[in-house]
Amino acid sequence: MTISNGDAQGLLPTKAEIQDFTTALEVLERDYPTRDGLDVDALLDSDKHGALTYNDFLVLPGYIGFPASDVSLETPVTKRISLKTPLLSSPMDTVTEHNMAIHMALLGGLGVIHHNCSAEDQAEMVRKVKRFENGFILDPVVISPKTTVAEAKELKSTWGFGGFPVTENGTLRSKLVGIVTSRDIQFHTSDEDPVTQVMSTDLVTAPAGTTLAEANEVLRNSKKGKLPIIDKDGNLVSLLSRSDLRKNLHYPLASKLPDSKQLIAAATVGTRDYDKQRLQLLVDAGLDIVVIDSSQGNSIYQIDMIKWVKKTFPQIDVIGGNVVTREQAANLIAAGADGLRIGMGSGSACITQEVMAVGRPQALAVHSVSSFAARFGVPCIADGGIENVGHIVKGLAMGASTVMMGGLLAGTTESPGEYFVSSEGQLVKAYRGMGSIDVMEDRKTTKAGKEGKAQNAGTARYFSEKDRVLVAQGVSGSVLDRGSVTKFVPYLIAGVEHSLQEIGVKSIKALHENVNNKTVRFEVRSGSAQAEGNVHGLHSYDKKLYS
Ligand code: GDP
Ligand code: GDP
Ligand code: 5GP
Repeated sequence: MTISNGDAQGLLPTKAEIQDFTTALEVLERDYPTRDGLDVDALLDSDKHGALTYNDFLVLPGYIGFPASDVSLETPVTKRISLKTPLLSSPMDTVTEHNMAIHMALLGGLGVIHHNCSAEDQAEMVRKVKRFENGFILDPVVISPKTTVAEAKELKSTWGFGGFPVTENGTLRSKLVGIVTSRDIQFHTSDEDPVTQVMSTDLVTAPAGTTLAEANEVLRNSKKGKLPIIDKDGNLVSLLSRSDLRKNLHYPLASKLPDSKQLIAAATVGTRDYDKQRLQLLVDAGLDIVVIDSSQGNSIYQIDMIKWVKKTFPQIDVIGGNVVTREQAANLIAAGADGLRIGMGSGSACITQEVMAVGRPQALAVHSVSSFAARFGVPCIADGGIENVGHIVKGLAMGASTVMMGGLLAGTTESPGEYFVSSEGQLVKAYRGMGSIDVMEDRKTTKAGKEGKAQNAGTARYFSEKDRVLVAQGVSGSVLDRGSVTKFVPYLIAGVEHSLQEIGVKSIKALHENVNNKTVRFEVRSGSAQAEGNVHGLHSYDKKLYS
């Protein structure tokens, strides 16, 4: 075999003609004052490229100097609250109720509970999120020695847990006499017996003042399911549950408040007077973050509502929106918003841009608002239009701290509603815009609607009570089965980590810094570039996204 000698044949440039290979970095520095590609301002120059959205651009790769597992996705969702992952689920009645909210929080994100239901039902969902995981349970359900087995069984089905401390008065801060657990009552057939006949009395307890880490150690060693904490007179002050140790172990990213170890709960309200009563119920149930739900947030109603919430519940963080311009954002920031939700008309089930002629392409909207809000330390949510991991990264690259997803999560096991088989034979779940005729008409037909409670419901986002004709801003349809968020969200997280590694940034914060200092570069995609970036030229293929 002969190896062709290009040099000898005069095909390759001579040594004298090329730069010395070792000086490539010097040449780069000397001859190329700006980096390859476009900085974010050049990218978003709408005079040159029109107003862009996610599919219209790419991020250029950087230098990989670390493993993807080193990437941190920790990010603020409000001025005071940070999450370990930047993923939020939308407040829509086909996306986020308590089950989705619990799982999104366990996985390090946040589910925002919709308000297209009675205030009481929404508060109950918030309560379920807050009760799901605890450090010290400071207000445990306590029973008295007179409580019957039947009543204990009833309490178990109401609350979903069956470990009840028994105290002399049946209240907290009364003398602890025993504990009833699910196993004690499960097979006990004489329902009218008092719980004293089945309860355990050989209790392992810990004294008040024990730290959570110490109490967990006692609980681990005791092999019991519960650890009551008592004061020096034997009165019950709080309770610890073994299942919380397990949850903490299985969900290391969980979005929890540092003191209570309870999951963070977020929910929406509107801007009517009755929404103030609704919010009171949500706060009583333990709400941490309220999102004011409006498709066009720059209104006197929302500004007043934000001010009222900040004054009435200073402990609650308020996210305002939706906005797509600096001017809209400025009003809500000035009113006291702790976070902003960005997006108008970019949602997958949304027809606002078509019908109302208002809105803004999402990439430009996210950058315009979040670069302004960053000057006031107000984190932004890129809401709507997220169809894949790449869109999440692009939303973050445009300056958002978190992204909110509706359609992408609506087909998961944890979203409300049942799966059904579509006419094409595929397993699907319903997904509908909150401004769809379907949702708006619900208030005429649902139980809440007939009882007059639906005015309390979420539909006010898209129309006013006085409207004679309902003008839809969303559609109603279905999305494909995506399995459980416990698999899908870790896939999204891993995908974002790998993407940030390719860009060469170790965190969302570093991404923001390097976009701002023009180190992270971009490129506009022509139509054919977009076609090239998708699967093409194959006869058939199977698009399996993760395993
Ligand atoms: P149990 O053994 O039937 O009580 O249930 P588990 O121990 O499996 O789960 C109890 C879960 O409910 C834990 O995550 C607790 O933090 C949570 N929880 C919230 N509030 C209470 C409460 O008042 N009592 C009890 N026992 N658990 C509570
Ligand atoms: P972590 O990152 O959530 O573990 O937070 P810390 O480092 O502040 O944890 C302090 C102690 O609390 C450790 O012993 C943890 O194992 C424990 N811990 C954290 N979360 C929970 C929880 O939800 N329930 C219980 N019982 N303990 C927890
Ligand atoms: P997706 O993730 O499905 O692309 O978008 C979800 C977002 O769409 C929601 O968080 C919300 O902001 C927005 N949205 C939900 N329903 C409607 C609707 O009926 N009309 C409009 N314009 N936007 C909607």
